Amino acid sequence: MTSSDDYKALESKYYMQVVNRMPPVLVRGEGTRVFDNDDKSYLDFTAGWAVLNIGHNHPAVTEAIRDQAGKILQMSNLFYTTPQLPLAEIIVENSDVDRVFFCNSGAEANEGACKVARKWGKTKLDGAYEIITTFDSFHGRTQAMMAATGQPAYQEKWTPLMPGFVNVPYNDVQAIKDAYVEGRTCAVMIEPVQGEGGVNIPSENYLKDVMDFCHEKNILFMLDEVQTGMGRIGTLFGYQQFPGVEPDVMTLAKALGSGAPLGAFTTKEFCSVLEPGDHGSTFGGNALTTAAGAAAAKVIVDENIPELANETGAYFQGKLNSLAEKYEFITEVRGMGLLIALQMNVDIAGAAVTAALPEGLLINAVRPNMIRFMPPLNVTRDEIDEAVAILDKVLGEVS
Ligand SMILES: *Cc1c(COP(=O)(O)O)cnc(C)c1O
Repeated sequence: MTSSDDYKALESKYYMQVVNRMPPVLVRGEGTRVFDNDDKSYLDFTAGWAVLNIGHNHPAVTEAIRDQAGKILQMSNLFYTTPQLPLAEIIVENSDVDRVFFCNSGAEANEGACKVARKWGKTKLDGAYEIITTFDSFHGRTQAMMAATGQPAYQEKWTPLMPGFVNVPYNDVQAIKDAYVEGRTCAVMIEPVQGEGGVNIPSENYLKDVMDFCHEKNILFMLDEVQTGMGRIGTLFGYQQFPGVEPDVMTLAKALGSGAPLGAFTTKEFCSVLEPGDHGSTFGGNALTTAAGAAAAKVIVDENIPELANETGAYFQGKLNSLAEKYEFITEVRGMGLLIALQMNVDIAGAAVTAALPEGLLINAVRPNMIRFMPPLNVTRDEIDEAVAILDKVLGEVS
């Protein structure tokens, strides 16, 4: 068997050094647990970056991939692809959008959404092209999505940024009204709850007010649900937590493929402006990835996994609030469903993440003073208790 040290040597010799890796070499997963190449087990409260909403290697997903691999993996999009169509049906029948286009990632989904917005502007709004997005957002790593992502750390090295985006404060509808320019603005794109920006939950009316303003100006109201979609924050789609809100355009990825690389952008019929020749993707929505996606979506809907996320999330937040009573450096626990952040007034998140590893817990330092939790939505209460006990020990050590 190849040892961890051998893998580390291979990585440092051959792989692009764009991330500082964590020590374990993880080779297997099951439910909320992953195992390294010495068979040590870890509770995975990162879920492959909010991807494994029904856990690692859910039997329904594994079976669907096995079955599809024995049939057909890929055809050109000139032909009908199944199980792409049943998955599109699940998304449309359980949301307020009407049409789906499948692609391979969140960034690509948002690129597609922005093409819809640009075409909307070109054909209906005298060539309007600018899209308003927010600070602390995250929309992906392509050239255009770095301009959309309102975080200097993702933008500074890559200037000049792609034109056509303007970033304004989140949770501030007036900032969007002020940034709007008739004949120039074609859409607003925001996350229902900001994930990578630190689990920022907007005030109750924000999304509805932004939507109403968009409709008043005939510009598109676009929701990036790449992280919040597929049950993460307690409803199948995050916007369903906010009464009266319906996106014109919605994007998905992360949990959509349950580990298979699958994204989607979706539209209401009135703004479904793309025509034959306007867009495509060689792999987008191929038989393999949509087999995984359809199997996962069926489990999420049939077993009401979003409601489970709500209940378990409340339980988890309760446990974290007990820690907040014990450690006065914890300033806030906030979240929706199972997208939860623990904020502190000291920069020990990185140290806590590192110290949690040998104890068998994977968590994310989303900011130097903030830990983010995004376990599988079917995580058990026993697993939450185990994770909180480790966290308690680790916070005691590093503070
Ligand atoms: C992760 C994420 C993306 C980017 O997705 P990729 O698949 O990494 O391109 C976009 N938007 C949000 C909200 C995300 O969380």
